[in-house]
Amino acid sequence: MRQFSVGIIGATGMVGQRFATLLENHPWFHVTALAASARSAGKTYEEAVGDHWLIKAPMPESMKSMVIFNAEKDVEKVTDLVDFVFCAVNMPKDATKALEELYAKQECPVISNNSANRLVPDVPMIIPEINADHAEIIPVQRKRLGTKRGFIAVKSNCSLQSYVPAIQPLMDLHVTKVLACTYQAISGAGKTFETFPQILDNVIPYIGGEEGKSENEPMKIWGHIENGQIVNAVEPNITSQCLRVPVSDGHTAAVFATFEKPVSMEEIIERWESYKGAPQELKLPSAPKQFLHYFHQEDRPQTRLDRNLENGMAVSIGRLRPDSQYTIKFVCLSHNTLRGAAGGAVLLAELLAAKGYLD
Ligand code: NAP
Repeated sequence: MRQFSVGIIGATGMVGQRFATLLENHPWFHVTALAASARSAGKTYEEAVGDHWLIKAPMPESMKSMVIFNAEKDVEKVTDLVDFVFCAVNMPKDATKALEELYAKQECPVISNNSANRLVPDVPMIIPEINADHAEIIPVQRKRLGTKRGFIAVKSNCSLQSYVPAIQPLMDLHVTKVLACTYQAISGAGKTFETFPQILDNVIPYIGGEEGKSENEPMKIWGHIENGQIVNAVEPNITSQCLRVPVSDGHTAAVFATFEKPVSMEEIIERWESYKGAPQELKLPSAPKQFLHYFHQEDRPQTRLDRNLENGMAVSIGRLRPDSQYTIKFVCLSHNTLRGAAGGAVLLAELLAAKGYLD
């Protein structure tokens, strides 16, 4: 594989810091530009982050003295230095959408963690093991943007990145209804226990906008390309409740699903354990060897024990049982800032690189 120079837009934030550490020794991608807001621009990465380094792995030595660009004002300076950018910024939706389009129109592909462009019909929203084929919409988007190379591709919201993968291998059994209650870590809000003491000994039954994303985004992921658009799936019907819980990393979901066809519990577990997608077939550098792991122990998956499975890129599932109202119920878990955010975006970039979209 050829080597790529990459930029991180929003490098000083929680997801940006994850990108920095994941890309430190990446075999294909090398960080050549870091950008953030006017607050950080002109400072070195080390100065700009100060004591706000939020993750366990240390700041990469090679990036400490890199000078941060102003993401909005230094677009050409950044795009001159990179083949593509990862983007994870905390800005109003319209401003994020405009910023991502600005980079794409400068012929710089954008792999985004933000929600601003997720529901645009010609922007692929990809979980690489599930809908890698949605990358085929990129030429349509390039036509709209008037670009030859530039485009935007996004990863989905972190809350659904455990239960959508778990349901995927069962879709041919015709899943009609899903109820998913998520128990979401505080890093999903860019917080730690130090910066969010209100969460200690507490559960907060509200995460702004999260239930809509949890119900709607899966329908695009399970959609298909038709007449130059991604047409959303109409089933399964999903309803969700999203709660913030006192956990640092790792979103858990309690899931109930109804199928039209009968199925045995053994058959479901076998489907989970043998499921493979494009990342496994292409042997992408960040792909977990096995995407879905089933735990037979009654008290698993647990966030502290299982969130880092396969470098935080695998999904853990457990407690599968028949249900009297739905067909089955189970519990699943994925790491929200690895699989659910920066790791998922790096895997998406690897997929797009392997398929030639970043050339
Ligand atoms: P964060 O910790 O608040 O970091 C925000 C980043 O955005 C910082 O680098 C900040 O730069 C930059 N920024 C703010 N205003 C900007 C501007 N006007 N121009 C350029 N950069 C600007 O947020 P986060 O948790 O990393 O989340 C970033 C994005 O990823 C959000 O869209 C979030 O919804 C999404 N996301 C987060 C997670 C998660 O688990 N945390 C998961 C999935 C998706 P300064 O430091 O210079 O202010």
